[in-house]
Amino acid sequence: MLYSEPLFRPPAEADSLIVQITEGCAYNRCLFCPMYKGKDFRVHSPKEIAVHLRDLSSVFGPDQTRVFLADGDALVMDTDDFLAAMAQVRSAFPAVRRFAAYGSVFSLAAKTADDLLRLKAAGLRTVYLGLESGDEETLRRMGKYMAAPRMAGICRRVVEAGLNLSVMVVIGLGGRSRSRPHAEASARLVNEIRPSHTSLLNLLLAHTPLAADADYRDFALTDYFSEAAAFVAAVECRTIFRANHASNPVALQGVLPRDRELILSRIQTALSRCPGA
Ligand code: SF4
Repeated sequence: MLYSEPLFRPPAEADSLIVQITEGCAYNRCLFCPMYKGKDFRVHSPKEIAVHLRDLSSVFGPDQTRVFLADGDALVMDTDDFLAAMAQVRSAFPAVRRFAAYGSVFSLAAKTADDLLRLKAAGLRTVYLGLESGDEETLRRMGKYMAAPRMAGICRRVVEAGLNLSVMVVIGLGGRSRSRPHAEASARLVNEIRPSHTSLLNLLLAHTPLAADADYRDFALTDYFSEAAAFVAAVECRTIFRANHASNPVALQGVLPRDRELILSRIQTALSRCPGA
């Protein structure tokens, strides 16, 4: 088997070769995320990575230019080990020009500015990071709490190292009861971080305990669009904005704040078409 399934990657990495240097998520406690609940986290050994790279090369060919290092939080690896894995990839795929990986605020908290600069120098281009929310009450409720100022500081370090930081916010994560605080606090956090990219995802309840909670179950499509609009209206920093994940009911994209009115008008049109709106 080429990969340990299930395997995930951000939409923007559709053209990248996925190289699995870890399995699962080291944190794996977020209530809303069923992605890696069936996997125990582990780091692949250099020997396993070598076999994996040989298999990938025989299937996809050696001329790969973009690599996504999986699974859910590969940057939790010790920096030297991560750099060694990147070097292994480069020797198997000499044409690789850029690497990307998921990170979390927990794993990146352990990375120094020097670590981040070394990763950038080795070819790491983009870190994808689930902020999920800037609302601390929502983060506590979801089992993914870190104080917002600390999250901002960790994320700023990534930006200041010159890496692309692509952050994700989950619409619906505050339920109906905290929809507005979740949207506004998330936009405030994004404004502090000033990430190169910002994406909205839509909360999916399947395989999560939130499916039994009326505050989430009753979060309707109209709530989704109202919350997305409140978020977009409050983002002031320049960031490439996307809501094009498969979970989103309508694909949105643009550059904020430049394209705010256009994006808001698309949201308003979608909202006006919702049953019962
Ligand atoms: S949301 Fe991210 S950190 Fe939380 S369990 Fe899922 S992959 Fe892990």
